[in-house]
Amino acid sequence: MQTVCMISLGCAKNLVNSEQMMGALAAAGYAISPEPEGSDVVIVNTCAFIGPAKQEAIDTLLELGAMKTAGRIGKIVAAGCLAERYRDEIAAELPEVDAFVGVGAFGEIAAAVEGALTGARTALFPPPEECDDSLPRALSSPGAWAYLKIADGCDNRCAFCVVPSIRGKYRSRAEEDILREARELAESGVREVIVIAQDTTRYGLDLYGERRLAGLLRKISEIDGILWIRLHYMYPDDVPEELIRELRDNPKILKYLDIPIQHINDGILKKMRRRGTGAEIRALIARLRAEIPGVVLRTSLITGLPGEGEAEFEELCGFLREAKFERGGVFPYSPEEGTEAFSMERPDSETAYARAEAVEELQSRIMDGFNAERTGKVETVLVEALEDGVYLGRGYAESPDIDGVVVITGENLRIGDFIEVKIIGSDGGDAVAEPVTGGSA
Ligand code: SF4
Repeated sequence: MQTVCMISLGCAKNLVNSEQMMGALAAAGYAISPEPEGSDVVIVNTCAFIGPAKQEAIDTLLELGAMKTAGRIGKIVAAGCLAERYRDEIAAELPEVDAFVGVGAFGEIAAAVEGALTGARTALFPPPEECDDSLPRALSSPGAWAYLKIADGCDNRCAFCVVPSIRGKYRSRAEEDILREARELAESGVREVIVIAQDTTRYGLDLYGERRLAGLLRKISEIDGILWIRLHYMYPDDVPEELIRELRDNPKILKYLDIPIQHINDGILKKMRRRGTGAEIRALIARLRAEIPGVVLRTSLITGLPGEGEAEFEELCGFLREAKFERGGVFPYSPEEGTEAFSMERPDSETAYARAEAVEELQSRIMDGFNAERTGKVETVLVEALEDGVYLGRGYAESPDIDGVVVITGENLRIGDFIEVKIIGSDGGDAVAEPVTGGSA
């Protein structure tokens, strides 16, 4: 049996595509190897969102090229966003890559791999809209949680973002497809589904002529076996009342919302073609805090955007101090060719990086404050791992891979169980807790 290794770079949405490719390859009779070493084919599912992500993808391909030359791996396939965006450049400059799979061709991965193994240099680039989002997946996330992608592409035109030009128009998946996949995930032991798309609040608009996220979440929550639903990537300009009610009243939907705002200054928001104003974002945050007690809010921000002088940056920091997002991620602006903002005047990249560091520091103090406030509270956590004799879990405030963990000081816990813990402190951004009772929730 020939072996294939998948290296998935970039975001959670890309990971779902990697899992679909692994599912298709397993169905076609390939064995999936966790390590590149010794694999007949190594696929890199690349990201091309910003400069550092592109560099990581190129470095990975170059490293694999060296392994191939040394006879340690067989063939190399470049898939996903970087392959899509720079198809000609990669084909010309990386002769060691044996096949190319664009974002519309994940379902054809087996043909590309077969081509590579037989010496053909296959390049598959159908339109992104042709991607079949219902392909079966081979999950790479540990047992109890999985991402559930409800749409692909993006119809927003943020001036700094290259995603719509790579991933194509916004396409909601049919509700019955999503529910079928959610049921399959539950049957395979998944207890937490993490709902993702480039913009989840827009779900349904293209397909049904109306926003249907609230109803979709309700239906997912009716599936036996699913205990937690977590929601990411809500565009802030249109969060309907029905959705807020569902988030507040549905006990399976975690009181955790990820709303990427990017910035708060009106001039920058307008220039970047973001819908809504700073005042509207402030009002939304206040409304969510008032209507959903205990809600944990995550956001993502960009420093050094065109138009960000000292005053605009100070405005952003002041807003963060006041809004107290419990979770936050920040990127220095990366000018991307082909986007509207590329040619706009902007702060130099040193300033953008220094400001990103300052925001990181500010956010880490806010997050420490949040963990301190949690101390003494009893929460449900999902026990996920035992590392060096210590159990690690996650509560409603921790999304996998991006938010840290809950360190549990107990014994004889079962991985995959939901247990009650009391938060007793924090350690470097992680919460520390002790079990209140053992067993499943
Ligand atoms: S909402 Fe804006 S930032 Fe997000 S993927 Fe779409 S265009 Fe990019």
